[in-house]
Amino acid sequence: MTSLGEPRWRGGQLLSGLLRQRWTRWDQFSNLSRSLRARLETEVDLAWPTIVQSQPSLDGSTKHVFALRDGRQVEGVHMPYEDRVTLCLSSQVGCALGCAFCATGQMGIIRNLSAAEIVGQVVAMLNHHAHPQDRPLRPEQEAEGHRAPLGPGGAGPRTGPVNLVFMGMGEPLHNFDHLMAAFGTLTDEEGLAIPPRRITVSTSGLVSGIDRLGTFARRPRLALSLNATTDAARSRIMPVNRVWNLEALAQALGRFPLQSGERITIEYVLLKGVTDSQEDGRRLAAFAGRFPAKVNLIPFNPHEGSGFEAPEESRIGALCRLLSDSAVPVSVRRSRGQDVAGACGQLVREGQPRHPKPR
Ligand code: SAH
Ligand code: SF4
Repeated sequence: MTSLGEPRWRGGQLLSGLLRQRWTRWDQFSNLSRSLRARLETEVDLAWPTIVQSQPSLDGSTKHVFALRDGRQVEGVHMPYEDRVTLCLSSQVGCALGCAFCATGQMGIIRNLSAAEIVGQVVAMLNHHAHPQDRPLRPEQEAEGHRAPLGPGGAGPRTGPVNLVFMGMGEPLHNFDHLMAAFGTLTDEEGLAIPPRRITVSTSGLVSGIDRLGTFARRPRLALSLNATTDAARSRIMPVNRVWNLEALAQALGRFPLQSGERITIEYVLLKGVTDSQEDGRRLAAFAGRFPAKVNLIPFNPHEGSGFEAPEESRIGALCRLLSDSAVPVSVRRSRGQDVAGACGQLVREGQPRHPKPR
């Protein structure tokens, strides 16, 4: 606003319009003068990502495809629960890390998302799913000085609590600065006001990024994609393990400063015959016992040409019991949206260039 020669305090009006009201076009900004709106229209590109495709799944979740300004596309998933909603977000177009079981990894890295593109996925999904009576305030209400009520978990006009997980496309810690800028905006009290503890960043295990995240007093929660319990197996399916191996990871998680009651989520993709043995279960329990952790078992979501399969239900149940018998908090992530290819690891855009990595 100051760069446009406007008073500084108008920034607050912008913020309120963009994030509290979740307006997506300048002509909606009834809190600004007509002439300023006209100027913004010509001088400032309000290029939020737009939803170009939505596929509802039988379980109530919806996979959305977002178009970005440069024509690239990323995906996100809206998962409603009784008392809250969880949004799965992308942090990059593609991913550099080339995990063998992951469809996004097969694309290679195309580019980082900007902070606005990260926040924009949240705005677009919340607007898309807003119930008619929960729509943002009408312009005349806003002009009268009404403030849209924030739900108990933040996020603006009468949305229930919102959880965000960076488990879509990309490695969030490879896009650290934009991720943290987006985190600042998402948690801003004057905007979406999502509490930091409701935001989880999932990493494949970049120790430098984990250490850096630990230096922030206000930060998202951490999830680690462990996915294997020996260096040999992990290096085969996650090339990043050749840089930071299991011991390096355990030490990084051990020194990560946790708040009281906070736990690190250990995600563990179950690949039939590869990562699902009883010995894997025992080593997984031992790994998770080295710091406050909870384990999330994720039966593999099949995608074309992956060469992996999910274990049988009985095997999943046995591993789950083994962990809980070892006093490790454990849950099984039932793949939401599997029937629309929206579950984790299947977020790959068809028709985009693929750069398969040599392994
Ligand atoms: N790059 C980050 C976050 C995105 S991947 C990371 O790797 O953690 C989010 C989660 O999806 C990770 O735990 C990953 O192991 C898991 N995942 C990837 N492909 C999968 C698949 N085909 N089936 C089940 N989970 C998968
Ligand atoms: Fe990248 Fe995560 Fe997929 Fe690995 S699992 S390729 S780190 S998105």
